[in-house]
Amino acid sequence: MSRRKTRPRPTTGPAAPSAPAVTAASPCPCGRDAAYGACCGRFHDGTAGAAPTAELLMRSRYSAFVARDEGYLLRTWAPETRPTEVDFDPSLRWTGLEIRETTDGTAFHQRGTVTFVARYVHDGEPGALHERSRFTRHDGAWVYVDGEFLA
Ligand SMILES: [Zn+2]
Repeated sequence: MSRRKTRPRPTTGPAAPSAPAVTAASPCPCGRDAAYGACCGRFHDGTAGAAPTAELLMRSRYSAFVARDEGYLLRTWAPETRPTEVDFDPSLRWTGLEIRETTDGTAFHQRGTVTFVARYVHDGEPGALHERSRFTRHDGAWVYVDGEFLA
């Protein structure tokens, strides 16, 4: 998942709300039936090392967008496509992730794809990002390469 580029950032509007509060005991934003601290949070803070599969990396990156954890997003971005910073859109709120399909991306692979739908509300309008993301390994750990938008 990358930042969305299709809509211009509004130049006026309410002040940016603070990042949504995600605590260790919160339900994990990625949608698995687990608390954030036992799910994506353990990858964000490094206590569980790197995500072992492309799908878990995808989930943890989605949760990092929700928690606005820029450091984690940049660390898990392939060097060749990594931006210098992550542009969190203050008028966009992620509301749910659904994994549709995965290919490869396990402990036995060097590459993988994850197809997902990420739902959001942007300026009060619900929307969905349908994307097939590509992942590879960098220094042994899964990293996000890029994504293809699907209709
Ligand atoms: Zn999670």
